[in-house]
Amino acid sequence: MKELTPMMKQYMEVKEKHPDSILFFRLGDFYEMFFEDALTASRELEITLTQRDCGMNEKAPMCGVPHHVAEVYIGRLVEKGYKVAICEQLEDPSVAKGIVKRDVVRVVTPGTITDTNILDEKTNNFLASIFIDNTGVGLSYVDNSTGEMYTTEFLNRDEEKCYKFIIDELGKISPSEIICNENLFSNNKYIKIIKNNLNPFFNIYKDTNIEYEDLKSLITKLFNKSLDNLTIEKRIYSIISTAKLIDYLNETQKHALNHINNLFFYEAKDYMILDINTRINLEIHETILSRQKKGALIYILDKTNTSMGGRLLKKWLEEPLLSIVEINKRLDMVQYFFENIPILEKLRELLKQVYDLERLSGKISNGSCNGRDLIALKNSLEILPLLKEILVDTGDDNLVRIGEKLDDLNDIFILINKSIKDNPPIAIKEGDLIKAGFDANLDRVREANVKGKEWLANLEAKEKQKTSIKNLKIGYNKVSGYYFEITKSNISQVPDYFIRKQTLKNAERYFTEELKEMEETILNAKDESLKLEYKIFQAIREKIKNEIPRIQTSSKVVSLIDVATSLSKISYENNYTRPKLNNKGYINIKDGRHPVVESLIEGNLFIPNDTYLDKDKDMVHIITGPNMAGKSTYMRQVAIIILMAQIGCFVPAMEANISIVDRIFTRIGAADNLSKGDSTFMVEMNEVSNIIKNATENSLIILDEVGRGTSTYDGLSIAWAVVEHITNNINAKTLFATHYHELTQLQDKFSKIKNLTMSAKENGEEIIFLRKIIKGSTNKSYGIQVARLAGVDKDIIDKANEILNTIEMSHEINITRVLSESKQEKKQLDLMDYKKEYYINEIRNININELTPLESLNILSKLI
Ligand code: ADP
Repeated sequence: MKELTPMMKQYMEVKEKHPDSILFFRLGDFYEMFFEDALTASRELEITLTQRDCGMNEKAPMCGVPHHVAEVYIGRLVEKGYKVAICEQLEDPSVAKGIVKRDVVRVVTPGTITDTNILDEKTNNFLASIFIDNTGVGLSYVDNSTGEMYTTEFLNRDEEKCYKFIIDELGKISPSEIICNENLFSNNKYIKIIKNNLNPFFNIYKDTNIEYEDLKSLITKLFNKSLDNLTIEKRIYSIISTAKLIDYLNETQKHALNHINNLFFYEAKDYMILDINTRINLEIHETILSRQKKGALIYILDKTNTSMGGRLLKKWLEEPLLSIVEINKRLDMVQYFFENIPILEKLRELLKQVYDLERLSGKISNGSCNGRDLIALKNSLEILPLLKEILVDTGDDNLVRIGEKLDDLNDIFILINKSIKDNPPIAIKEGDLIKAGFDANLDRVREANVKGKEWLANLEAKEKQKTSIKNLKIGYNKVSGYYFEITKSNISQVPDYFIRKQTLKNAERYFTEELKEMEETILNAKDESLKLEYKIFQAIREKIKNEIPRIQTSSKVVSLIDVATSLSKISYENNYTRPKLNNKGYINIKDGRHPVVESLIEGNLFIPNDTYLDKDKDMVHIITGPNMAGKSTYMRQVAIIILMAQIGCFVPAMEANISIVDRIFTRIGAADNLSKGDSTFMVEMNEVSNIIKNATENSLIILDEVGRGTSTYDGLSIAWAVVEHITNNINAKTLFATHYHELTQLQDKFSKIKNLTMSAKENGEEIIFLRKIIKGSTNKSYGIQVARLAGVDKDIIDKANEILNTIEMSHEINITRVLSESKQEKKQLDLMDYKKEYYINEIRNININELTPLESLNILSKLI
C-alpha cells in the first residue's frame, strides 16, 4: 500500500469495500478498471488491455471505457452475471484541493438493473431474498425497475417441503439474482435444480449480526408504515427476508427508494401452484424444444398494448386464482369488453399511447430520468382523463367504480406541459429543456444571453465595415471562446487592435478587448442559464417524485384495463366461451380445444374433444391410442383450459364448467433435464414422487407414459402402482396416457377409473388419425405405421413388422402374474423372453393323448 501512488491508494480503498464487484473508477472522461477487474472486463467486453504506473515495480493492468457510453458496457457485464460498482468523482476536479474525492454511488447487479435498454419490457426483473432455517422459509422479492415488492413465508420442519416451496415460488418469478443466508446451500440437490432451471446470480447475506429490531425498522422506515399495516407483524421469516432485501437495495442503490413504497404479503397457497416442470411442460411462456415465445400459450394470450399490461398478464398466468368470486370479477370485466367491441377498440387505441409508467416512475425515483422521459410521462398521462371518461360511461358497475376512482394526474400533466419543451435533448445539463415563460429568472438570464448574441451580431457588422473585410465573422468554440475569424487572403487588412489568438490552415483567429469583455458576460449568462435549467429540471423531477405512489396507482388501472381488453380481444377473435366455475369436484368441458395447437393448424381443422372428470366417478382416465394420435395435445388442452379459466380468461370450448383446481402436475417427457446430467428414469421418478407427495383431491395430474425409462416389467409395475395409489389415497383427477395396454384392466378393478382412447382408423397399411377421444381402449400403438409416415427406411419397416408378428404370437403378458412376480428378480423383457414364452405356451397346450401324427408334424413345423 505504501508504495502506491495516491490515486491508486484511493482506488484500493474503494475496491476493498467492493471485492465482489468490477469497479468502474472515474478518471476524467473515462471509467477505468485495474488489476483483476481489468483482466476480466477486457476479456468480457473485448476492449484493449493496457497498463498504468501505480507506484510499484510492476505496472497495473488497466482498461477503460468513455463515460458517455459506459451504460452499454455496464449492461453487458451485468448480463454476463457480474456486479459493477460505479465510483464517481464527488467534487469538481478544477476546484478540488489535492486528490479528487471519489466513492461508489451505485452498484449495478443483475437483479437491480434499471436500464430499459437491457430489460425485456414485458418481463419483470426480480431480485429475490431467501431466508431458510430448520423451521421455515421467508421469501421476498422486488423489481427495482418498477418498484413492486412482495413477500411470503412458509413454516415447516420438513426440509424437503421448504425447498419445494422455494422452487415453486422461484419458478413463478424467475429471479435474475438471489440473496440468501448460507443455509440455502446446505442442500445441493435443490440448489442444482434452481441453477439448472433459473441460473440466477447468487449472493450470501452480508452482515449477519443485525439485531432483529433493526431489521424491523429497515422495513418500517422504507414503507413508512407499521409492520401491522403491512400485515407482516407476526411473520418473522418474511420480516427477515424483506429486511435483508432492503438492506441490499440500500447498499447497492445508495439513493432513496421512492418507487418502492408498498409491500404485498401473500400466501402461496392462495393461488394455484404450478411447479417448474408444469410451467415448462404446458409451454406457458416458451416452447420446450425451441424455447421461443412463438408457439407458447403467452403468444396467443398476450395482445396487451403496454409493457405494464404485458407484465401483469404474465403475473396472472403465473398465479391462477382459487377464489371463484375473484375469478368471476375478472371474467365479468372480460365479458363486458367481449360484448362491447367498439369500446374495447377505443380503449386499446388509447392504451397504445401509454409508455411504461412503472419504469418511468423507477427512473424518476433513482434520478436517471431525463427530459424525454418526462415528455413520455406527459404523453401517457394525457390519455388518463379519456380513459376515465370511457370507463365511467360504460354503465358497468365495476368499470364505473374503477373509472371514478382513477386519478387522472392532471396536475402532473399540467406541470410537465408548462415546463418541459416538447423535444428535449437526451442530456439534462446542456439546456434547451425548459419552456420559456415557466421561470422568470431563467427567462431573464436567457434574455441576457440573447441580447449578448445581438450585441455580437452588431459588433461583427461594425468591424466588417471598419476593416472592409467582407468575410470577417465572429465564431465560438468551447476551448477558445469567441473570436474573429479572418481568412489568410485578408490578413493584410487586419487592424492593430486585433490580437492574434489562433492560427489555422486557411485563417487566423483574433480577439479584441471589447470582444473579450463581452465574452465573459455572454458566457456567464449562458453558463448561468444552463445551471438554472438543470436546477429547475431537478425541482420538477423532485416534485413528481413525491407523486410516484399516485402514478403507480393509476398505472395499475391502466395495466388492468390493458389485460382485460387483451383477454377479451383474443376470446372474441378465437371464439372462446366464458367458463363456469364450481367447487363440486367435477370438470365438464364440451368441445374443448388446445388454444395453441388450433392456431397452428391451418383452416378450422382442429378436432374438439369433450372432457368429463369427476372426483366420484370419472376420476382417472387411462388414455391409450397410437403415437401421434393426439393424446398429449388432449391432456395439455385440459390443463390449459383450466389454467385459462382460473386466470379469468374465456376458454377454447363450447362450454366449460370447472371445479377449482389447486395444483396442476404434469409428468411429460424429460428431454430438457437429460442434457443436465440426470437419467430419464431418475428425472421421471423424481417428478412422480413429487406428485404423489403433494397432490390433493383438488389437483389435476397429467401423466404421459410414466415408466418408459426402464424395463417393461418395471415400468408397468410402477405405472400400475402409481395409478392405484392416486385412486385409493389421493383422489386427484388424473389423465394418464400410456402404451401399457395392461393398465386398461384397472377399469374393472376401480369404479373411478375409466378407459379412453384416441381413435384412429387403419386403412390398409396406412393409419388415419381421427383425433376424437372415445370410451374404450386399444392395444395397438401403430408405431410402425407412424414410423412409415415419418419416412423410416422400408427395410427397417419390413423387419419391424416381422418382429412384431413374432411378439404378437406370444400371449399377452398377464398383468396379475407380473404383479405377483414382482418380488422375484425383475428381468429386462426382450425379444428372447417373448419367444421363449411363446414356445413354452405352445408346448404346454399340446394334448399328447389326442394328437394325431399329422397334427404333431404340423405343430412341429410351426414351432420351427
Ligand atoms: P400423441 O401424444 O398421441 O403422440 P400428439 O398429441 O403429440 O400425439 O399429437 C400429434 C399431432 O397431432 C399434434 O402435433 C397436432 O398437430 C395434431 N393434433 C393433435 N390433436 C389434434 C386435434 N384434436 N385436432 C387436430 N390435430 C391434432
